[in-house]
Amino acid sequence: MAKQGSKKKTEKPDAAALDFRSMFQYAPAPESSAHVQLASQYELFINGKWEKPLKGEYFETRNPANEQVLARIAMAGKEDVDRAVTAARNAYEQTWSKISAKERAKYIYRIARLIQERAREFAVIESLDGGKPIRESRDMDVPLAANHFFYYAGWADKLDYAFPGKKPHSLGVAGQIIPWNFPLLMAAWKIAPALATGNTVVLKPAETTPLTALKLAELIKDAGLPDGVVNIITGAGATGAALVNHPDINKIAFTGSTEVGKIIQKAVAGTGKKITLELGGKAANIIFEDAPIDQAVEGVINGIFFNQGHVCCAGSRLFVQESVADKVIRKLKDRMESLIVGDPLDKNTDIGAINSKEQLNKIKQYLKIGVNEGAEMYQPACAIPAKGFFCKPTLFLHTSQSHRIVQEEIFGPVLAIQTFRTVEEVIEKANNTPYGLSAGVWTDKGSKIFNLTTKLKAGVVWANTYNKFDPTSPFGGYKESGYGREGGLHGLQPYLKFEA
Ligand code: NAP
Ligand code: MG
Repeated sequence: MAKQGSKKKTEKPDAAALDFRSMFQYAPAPESSAHVQLASQYELFINGKWEKPLKGEYFETRNPANEQVLARIAMAGKEDVDRAVTAARNAYEQTWSKISAKERAKYIYRIARLIQERAREFAVIESLDGGKPIRESRDMDVPLAANHFFYYAGWADKLDYAFPGKKPHSLGVAGQIIPWNFPLLMAAWKIAPALATGNTVVLKPAETTPLTALKLAELIKDAGLPDGVVNIITGAGATGAALVNHPDINKIAFTGSTEVGKIIQKAVAGTGKKITLELGGKAANIIFEDAPIDQAVEGVINGIFFNQGHVCCAGSRLFVQESVADKVIRKLKDRMESLIVGDPLDKNTDIGAINSKEQLNKIKQYLKIGVNEGAEMYQPACAIPAKGFFCKPTLFLHTSQSHRIVQEEIFGPVLAIQTFRTVEEVIEKANNTPYGLSAGVWTDKGSKIFNLTTKLKAGVVWANTYNKFDPTSPFGGYKESGYGREGGLHGLQPYLKFEA
């Protein structure tokens, strides 16, 4: 490969790969949405009932793949937030903190079982509202959400064993705010440990993807959870801010951008509220010359392009050892030629719709920035639908550490590639961002993996795989990627106070 910064023309994808692609055109295989029942309007889920917003304001949620309105959604104002927090407080004091941990566990198990029973419906709604491929929502988001509830149900009556000798106690009311990239899964990450530890909840989903959280509210009602234990309020940033600033909240759990995370951190400073922040990322995927190259290429593709790059831990920076760079880039391009961009409900789709017009505009802006910074852009020849918000998978070659496309979170299917020669060099480059959420290492050598996992400043380091999640593993960041851990035993801690 040409040295960094030089302008050698990059290779065209392999002609054989293109032939192969045209040989195997898949017929459309859309998942049916006929079984999904969506109301035309959703209210706020407060104290186990559907309540109209006091100011009577609503907003629309759209399907980003065709721009059609899916439903009208209640906009919770300050007074509605107050109603929800009051309901959560009353439920905490009158029921949830009084029932035995074993009883709590039964409710949480029931939620897990009901998610499994309604998995197909949840997967379709997740793809309709958020634009992610049905393969992702069906095989990842929904099963993982159910697993989170199963996992934390198991801990509910074992907290004394989880923290031996420390006498754990619940905190009270947790205010939880989540983003649009994993709407149901993030709701599960937040609600399951909060309930298991004996807290009650007010959750605010993101404005563009409220539907699965509202469906979860229906399911929670079906599970017979006592009124007010989980409240779900929809709205925009101001609704989230009202929740953060409510004086009767004991803990804030936030997943979203670093920008909003900083605002929240300032808002809770000095209030005594506990806080966890899961923020942005700019993960490095590192391929060494001794790596299984085909597996690594597939891992890189999965890490940045599947799910449209709408993943906080997306492997958006690729570092390839110089001796294998040409080969890796050729294979990446070949594989990109075979990616299918389009209808999120089609089971063949690899890359669905970008979540909103604003996000698509932000990504397009970064594509311009990358070109203006002198990087070489590569996109496959694939067609993208005319209607809806779509973006081709994109590579940037000849990038350098100072490029904005290398430093800033784009949150789209955009990969910036650099080369390296030595282990020390790649560690320094990989750590050179304000973020530190995740990283990936591809090598045949166990010793190299151990060396890098200790030196990379990232909360999660995957080795010879990428984007793998499990409820038993803690997840969280370093530096501007936030603090606190979700998942696993660690995920219980932020919802507890300890006597000893
Ligand atoms: P965002 O703009 O920060 O929004 C996140 C949530 O906060 C949304 O519900 C949002 O409401 C709400 N919000 C906005 N302004 C607020 C304020 N001033 N006070 C309280 N809440 C406020 O992030 P996003 O664009 O939805 O999500 C993408 C970001 O999330 C990326 O940076 C990504 O890396 C990060 N993320 C991190 C993790 C992790 O585990 N570390 C996981 C997933 C995503 P509205 O939607 O109505 O604006
Ligand atoms: Mg939507």
